[in-house]
Amino acid sequence: MEKRAKRTKRKLNRLGKTVLGFLIIFTMVTTYLIWDQVAEKNVVAKRNSDKLTATVEASQPPKKMEKESDQKQNNVENGQKIEHLHSEKDSKQTHSETKKNPIQADKENVIDTKPNVTKKDQKKKDAVDSESKKNNQAINKEDGKAEQLEIGKVVYMTFDDGPHPTASQEILQLLEKYNAKASYFMLEPNMKQNPDVVKAMIQDGHTVGVHGVTHDVSKVYKSPQSFVAEMNTAIDFIAETTNVNTHLVRAPYGSKPYITAPFQQASDQANFIIWDWNVDSVDWKLKNGQYVQEVIQQINHLEGKEPLVILMHEKPTTAAHLENLLKYFQDNGYEMRAINESMQPIQFK
Ligand SMILES: [Zn+2]
Repeated sequence: MEKRAKRTKRKLNRLGKTVLGFLIIFTMVTTYLIWDQVAEKNVVAKRNSDKLTATVEASQPPKKMEKESDQKQNNVENGQKIEHLHSEKDSKQTHSETKKNPIQADKENVIDTKPNVTKKDQKKKDAVDSESKKNNQAINKEDGKAEQLEIGKVVYMTFDDGPHPTASQEILQLLEKYNAKASYFMLEPNMKQNPDVVKAMIQDGHTVGVHGVTHDVSKVYKSPQSFVAEMNTAIDFIAETTNVNTHLVRAPYGSKPYITAPFQQASDQANFIIWDWNVDSVDWKLKNGQYVQEVIQQINHLEGKEPLVILMHEKPTTAAHLENLLKYFQDNGYEMRAINESMQPIQFK
């Protein structure tokens, strides 16, 4: 009798241990799954916020036109200064030329790691494509890797849609005051009206890139060819006016959803380097200076995790409050740098 009781007791003991074992394993697996899901949610949330950023810019089409008409009035005085900076040109030219190589090499790397989405278009483009690939790969061999953007106490401010007849000068002066470098993505009609501003940007050590001609979705994104043509018109204007040969492009309203595979391919063939952003000031909408707080908030969220590429616009309301932002950067130990062609561009995914 006693023996049997002992045996049952032992059996129960063993059963208890097994159950306990199962419970421990079950708890571990559940914890892992919950943790995993939370992590994934964070990624999704971040991606969504990126997308939001893009759509926000996409919702602002009508504003450019007023600006352009504004500028026509100011054009006359600007036109007189065109020839001032000619002696600057040659030195700048060599700079930008030597910088071309690493970028193209880098671009090629990016293309190669992408899935081959473009098979449909392959036939007609094969010949040209293999030609340009050969060139790029040749460059690739002799040159090293792309410069990575700094992560941490560095901000890369970018200004779109300019130049603006009054705001641009104001922005340039502020940047100088705070020892800040920035990058510009400009529209050809606005550059035409303010060529001296474009020259001053280069003279001050900022980076110039292009943003097209019309800023009109139905025109610039009509076809890959129209996109390339608009960017090249603006690129040619910069080359003729300043001797700087830029390849830096910001697609109007960002690369999503407009730069589809055929656009990307045409853009690669034209050797464009497309830059998006990850901090959206929303300065076109937040006209009374709230954009400064908006930028600071987004930066605090991303700092240490991603490089900080900020989208702003050359607008009077942006210029009016820019000093607050520059002061914040200075007080908080940020370095304000310009992007360049040898850097790995930030792009929406
Ligand atoms: Zn724009």
